Amino acid sequence: MAKISINLGSGTVEKSSDIVVGIDLGTTNSLIAIMDADTKAPIALSDAENNHVITPSVLYRHPDGHFLVGDAAKEMLVKHPEQTVYSVKRLLGKSFNDVADFESSYGYKIIDEDDDRLVKIKLDDQFYSPIELSAEILKELKSKAEARLKQKIGKAVITVPAYFNDAQRQATRDAGKLAGLEVLRIVNEPTAASLAYGIGLEADKQKVVAVYDLGGGTFDISILRIEDGIFEVLATNGNTFLGGGDFDQEVMKFWLDSLEVNFSDLTTTERQQLRLLAEEAKKKVYTSGTFSELFGTMKVTLSEAELNKLIDPLVLQTIDCCKNALADSGLNLSEIEEVVFVGGSTRVPHVVKTVSDYFVKSTIENTLNPDETVALGAAIEADILAGNRRDLLLLDVTPLSLGIETLGGLMDVIIPRNSRVPFKAGRNYTTSIDGQINLKISVYQGERDKVSENRKLAEFILNGIPAMPAGIPKVEIAFILDADGILKVKAKELRSGVEQTIDVKPQYGLTDAEVEAMLKDSLSNAQKDMDYRILQEAINESEYLIKSTEKFVVNNRTELSDDELASIENHVKTLTAAIASQDKDQIQNAQDALNEFTKPFAERMMDDTISTALKGKSIE
Ligand code: ADP
Ligand code: MG
Repeated sequence: MAKISINLGSGTVEKSSDIVVGIDLGTTNSLIAIMDADTKAPIALSDAENNHVITPSVLYRHPDGHFLVGDAAKEMLVKHPEQTVYSVKRLLGKSFNDVADFESSYGYKIIDEDDDRLVKIKLDDQFYSPIELSAEILKELKSKAEARLKQKIGKAVITVPAYFNDAQRQATRDAGKLAGLEVLRIVNEPTAASLAYGIGLEADKQKVVAVYDLGGGTFDISILRIEDGIFEVLATNGNTFLGGGDFDQEVMKFWLDSLEVNFSDLTTTERQQLRLLAEEAKKKVYTSGTFSELFGTMKVTLSEAELNKLIDPLVLQTIDCCKNALADSGLNLSEIEEVVFVGGSTRVPHVVKTVSDYFVKSTIENTLNPDETVALGAAIEADILAGNRRDLLLLDVTPLSLGIETLGGLMDVIIPRNSRVPFKAGRNYTTSIDGQINLKISVYQGERDKVSENRKLAEFILNGIPAMPAGIPKVEIAFILDADGILKVKAKELRSGVEQTIDVKPQYGLTDAEVEAMLKDSLSNAQKDMDYRILQEAINESEYLIKSTEKFVVNNRTELSDDELASIENHVKTLTAAIASQDKDQIQNAQDALNEFTKPFAERMMDDTISTALKGKSIE
């Protein structure tokens, strides 16, 4: 039932559809996918302008309070590291205590307001929660997809790592809400990845799979047992500080050693340039066997064999994690039927080889784009939830046990880990003191026996129990876990009927009222934000163009006529004036004109560089 509405401002007809999108909200990159109605296959949605499917999970806060998200923000990492936020997913649902050890590894400021509460990020003089920042990324994905599909998007499925706890899932859901999305389901990333390969779509077949996910900054291995639409997480393991970014670091170190240059002698810009060059080398070396490029005036090279040697210790670390996960699952290596490859870093042939050699008896699934797999699977789940495949019902399981504190600070588990969701369980308790009229109920999540070692989710007091001798009141505590793994707790004194229910919102979640207020705010600023983003992107591009033109002129002065030089100078002046005018059309026109004029020279220079390189002259 598609609804049609007419936008009175623009006069256009807007089709509001019941489309449900799948979103991979990643640490390094994020993307959005839908089920293609014609082909019945999931597809990742690209940007209408540059055809990129992937949006870097990077945000830049402009001094006036607007955010730039994605490629444009990634460029700001060089110019304004203190205003640019990356890897925000690592902070989602965490208190300052959780992240204090890693604080120094961020370029931006993490603020400790109050130890137990959610961390905030300080940008200029403003504080942002990771939820708000994640919402900005989701808004960007949403608006890109709306532009591409020419229709509004209201509903989504968002993926999270299998080990995410209640607080982190809740935070992800809040971010979705804040971005104006109705989040139908939070799905485990390995579940989505399996679905993308069709695993779990045949109802009655049991299968055991390992999902090997090596992204930009994190590594996750999950072992799943899938049967009758139920995805049971048998074990998870990994390293939250190991990924493709570490491969880049190794390449950088290798180059600096060979050039006899100290990292500390490089400017921030040079460091960033070298890092990007290292990433490029890592991606390209396997197609040509060697990579060679200029870094300033110095030549850097990398061969396939050198890269393999550099990253080998890191890849072996991931194998250790696989061994640990396997031990936890209680299975033998030969019982793993399939290994699903996920994450951009599994494009590296040395990773594929090492992992395949370890899982020697398993079928390797790596035919999909590894950086799209999770989003594609999320789109399949979205399609099922949209009601397009009524034959299937997919269920996840809860990753950690849930329970309450009992006498002596002990954890009494009410819902064990790996229970299917939705799930309901209850147990009766009583008082320990004569005449006790209140009962404090503290809810915890975790596997340890002492509650102090587990994570506290909530605490509430059941008031008004009639005074009775100790041991006589009968308090029934029920845990109701919904399909997203979010918990509701009910307590009822059965003799008197006194009862109380709470939705377990981790102390540091946003209240509904807060979410609503922020949502209203963001809706009223939507158009302004969009205009701002378009303008800022044009300015970034222009500044880059001016810089590279100036560099070109310096390097090629002798080969340019006076007339040509004067014309270039004029075009640069016009573009500089256009930037100052802050008029996006004017900027675009000036940029096109400069580009058009310098294109033939740039091509000539490119030919020269290539022929110099072919002659084997290195410019050292
Ligand atoms: P995340 O799940 O952390 O958001 P991705 O799955 O998108 O991240 O993986 C990003 C990583 O993949 C980056 O480190 C990037 O350099 C790496 N990567 C992407 N393409 C390639 C490639 N062709 N070869 C090697 N590494 C790649
Ligand atoms: Mg990922």
